[in-house]
Amino acid sequence: MKQRIVLLGPPASGKGTQADRLAAKFGIPHVSTGVLLRSECARGTILGQAADSWTRQGLLVPDELAIRIITTWMSEHGTRFIFDGFPRSVAQAEHLDLALSGLAAPLDLLIVLDLTDEEIRRRTSSRLSCLNCGATFSAPLDTLAEGWNCPRCGAALIRRDDDRPEAVEKRLEVYRELTAPVIGYYEQTSPHLLHRVNAGEGSDAVFTAISTLVFLK
Ligand code: ADP
Repeated sequence: MKQRIVLLGPPASGKGTQADRLAAKFGIPHVSTGVLLRSECARGTILGQAADSWTRQGLLVPDELAIRIITTWMSEHGTRFIFDGFPRSVAQAEHLDLALSGLAAPLDLLIVLDLTDEEIRRRTSSRLSCLNCGATFSAPLDTLAEGWNCPRCGAALIRRDDDRPEAVEKRLEVYRELTAPVIGYYEQTSPHLLHRVNAGEGSDAVFTAISTLVFLK
C-alpha cells in the first residue's frame, strides 16, 4: 500500500474530498495546505495574517511559507501522508523531493485529478466550506446554507472569499502558470508514479479509481 501520496489538480477538482475519504479508508494522514492556511487566518496568527492577503485574491502564498508549513507538519507527524494542495509550484516540488530523499522516504504515488474549467466554475459557485475541518459541500445539493453548522464537526460553514468568481479566475490562471508545470516536473522525474483520473466523474467513481491506485499499484 502507498504511504506518501500527492493529489494534484485544479481548484475544486475534489482533492480535499478524495483525500479525506482515502485517509478514512487507509488510515493515512491527510494534509491540506489550504485548510492549514485558512485555519491560521481564522485564528489570526502572524502566519495567517501574512497568508490572508494572497489567499483572498486567489494568489499563491510565497513558496517559503508553504514549505515551512509542510516541513513543520512532517517534523511533528512523520512521513506517511496524503498531500492536497502541496506542492503547488516547481520550486515546492523540488524542495519536497530533497526533503524526502534526506529522510529516505520518497513519494510513492502522484495522482492528477483532471477537471474542465467549466465544471470548476460551476462547483466553486455553489460550494460551502468548513473553516474548521475543511469539508466542502455543494450548497443546493446538500440543502445547506452559509452560517449553518458543518454536518461533520459542527463549526460554521462559509462561502470562501476565494470562491468568488474573480478569485476563481485568478486561481485558474495561477494554476495554469505555476501548478500545471508541477505535473510536467513529475512527468520528467517520476513518470512511473504519475496517474491521471477524470475528476468529472461522480465522487464514488473517482474514489474507486484512486483507491485501486493506493492499494494495488
Ligand atoms: P483549491 O485547491 O480549491 O484551490 P486550497 O484550499 O488548496 O484550494 O488552497 C487555497 C489557497 O491557499 C490557494 O489559492 C493559495 O492561496 C493557498 N495555498 C494553498 N496551498 C498552497 C501552496 N502549496 N503554496 C502556495 N499557496 C498555497
